[in-house]
Amino acid sequence: MRISDVRVTILQAPIPEEARVRSGVGLKYSRTSAFVEVITDEGLVGLGSCLGNPPLALKAIVDEVIAPTLRGLDPFDIEGIWQRMYTGRIRSNVGSRGVGMGALSGVDVALWDIKGKALGVPIYQLLGGACHDKIRAYASSIYWQAPDAAAAKARHYVNQGFTALKLKVGVDIERDLASLAAIREAVGNKVDIFVDANLCYTTKLALEMVRRLEQYKVFWFEEPIPFDDIEGYKKLTDATAVRIATGENMYTRFGFLDLITRRAADIVQPDICRAGGITEARKIASMAGAYGMLFAPHSFGDAVSQTAALHVNASTPEAFIMEVDVTYNPLRTELGGSLVEARNGFLELPNKPGLGIELTDDIREAYPYRGGLDLSLAATPALGLAYEDLQDRSAS
Ligand code: MG
Repeated sequence: MRISDVRVTILQAPIPEEARVRSGVGLKYSRTSAFVEVITDEGLVGLGSCLGNPPLALKAIVDEVIAPTLRGLDPFDIEGIWQRMYTGRIRSNVGSRGVGMGALSGVDVALWDIKGKALGVPIYQLLGGACHDKIRAYASSIYWQAPDAAAAKARHYVNQGFTALKLKVGVDIERDLASLAAIREAVGNKVDIFVDANLCYTTKLALEMVRRLEQYKVFWFEEPIPFDDIEGYKKLTDATAVRIATGENMYTRFGFLDLITRRAADIVQPDICRAGGITEARKIASMAGAYGMLFAPHSFGDAVSQTAALHVNASTPEAFIMEVDVTYNPLRTELGGSLVEARNGFLELPNKPGLGIELTDDIREAYPYRGGLDLSLAATPALGLAYEDLQDRSAS
């Protein structure tokens, strides 16, 4: 079997106004996915998803940088193709972070999908088999809103069966803690609460925050400060019993090297469809495991990216929980169906060959790409770009 072509399809689902959510990364207007299909001369098609922005840049990189080097290769040689894409093309021509790695990641996932389909087994079986029989899920996320509304959402997710949930913080410490207190009061002490600042705090503010998080028994504090500040992460990790989590904006095992070897976090969170695909995420997890860290991949996208994360989680000993996006995204819910749905707080292991997902014509027709970024300006309240300054200016 040989690779005959690689193609990208961009789909976009506008978010109805009442379902839009706001956090430190901005206000979400739409959900966009760049799906990549690797096509073989035997008619098998592998599906992946590339995370990054803008989607047209992902498509250009796949079309012009990656696809020409892949035609004629055996799609089973995933490790060799990864090296060919990364070392041969992306690292020196596009860069080892950003859209180039998103493009590479989607192609990597599609190759694993081909292999699973060809051999008639789910991807996790190709990764050493299962080490968890089902995967605990957490509800992601409760967004910036008034404390009573946040508490009502939390109660709703717990009633659905979730035993863990995430709160977006980063507005300011007092407002964030008011929401956290209301949620803890509403769900009691048996539910694990994670908080995610999406890089909004400075190290000093994060230090103050993390000490106050301890009293609410917060399980982890995610992206408290900008991801490049490994020194800041080290300080925070050493200062508190609350676990520090980061990684959704990081790429490759080389990008995670300092964070892991300096033990500057407790939980690593690479996104499978951004950090280097299934092939690379496994290596990052093993590195983290050797340093006593846990693995909880970022998984906030379409059905392909969530399912890729599910296969990795199923076969990775360091994985202990899975992010499940509970906000509006038909490219997750309609495309993934029961595969992406948590029941009683758990996801079942997929049993179909490959990923177990097909990009149907109905989905392609229902969600055409109309352009534009999904998000408004990111907030960094601690640095002066505050919540109040962000009101919908970039919507027009
Ligand atoms: Mg996050």
